Amino acid sequence: MKSLAESFEIVRQQIADDCAKSARAADSVALLAVSKTRSADEVRAAADTGQTAFGENYLQEALEKIEVLNDLGLEWHFIGPIQSNKTRPIAENFAWVHSVDRLKIAQRLSSQRPHYATDLNICLQVNISAEEQKAGCSIAELPQLASEIAALPKICLRGLMVIPEATDDIELLRSRFRETADLLKQLQPDIPTLDTLSMGMSGDLDAAIAEGATIVRVGTALFGPRSYPKSNS
Ligand SMILES: *Cc1c(COP(=O)(O)O)cnc(C)c1O
Repeated sequence: MKSLAESFEIVRQQIADDCAKSARAADSVALLAVSKTRSADEVRAAADTGQTAFGENYLQEALEKIEVLNDLGLEWHFIGPIQSNKTRPIAENFAWVHSVDRLKIAQRLSSQRPHYATDLNICLQVNISAEEQKAGCSIAELPQLASEIAALPKICLRGLMVIPEATDDIELLRSRFRETADLLKQLQPDIPTLDTLSMGMSGDLDAAIAEGATIVRVGTALFGPRSYPKSNS
């Protein structure tokens, strides 16, 4: 079995290779280590390899790890479904939220972000494959929602996050990622803080980087298979 350090090295090399293939700077893609279902000890071991940014889906589990690992000064990203009555601990404990898909949630995060904290970085989740049960705003809703969220205090709208449909069709995945990149470009003239495409997971990070991803969210390829939920929908 590969050690955690070896897995991190392999994924970092894969990202570097993907960047080289697309003539992108090696530091233009950030690795977000998705640590949902992983113990605090595993996160600590990952931090020992130099990893600083970690993504969590389940609030209670995340808060426990954030507290235990407080000494490490890690950067925590919330990437899971958000219930509107659970926004306060998210606003208080995370540096980024990738899964905002409605105004009400953004308004609550804005008003609950502590005054002493830096602005909360937000990505708007877009239901790029227009799947029935999937989280994310529609492409049609996106322009208005983005401008309303960008105007809120204590929040910095950084970009878009997508999870395309599960498929082995790499060309289809690439077209979804390309469309996401186009959507970001269309919004950028009006919202200058937009610089982030949060797209690509263990199975599709090559395609995502080829289409401009700036943050890839990787769990399985770093930590091995999970025994409970694989991803939120
Ligand atoms: C679980 C999850 C990931 C990581 O998925 P892997 O396939 O394990 O790399 C990325 N993004 C979101 C939103 C997730 O829920």
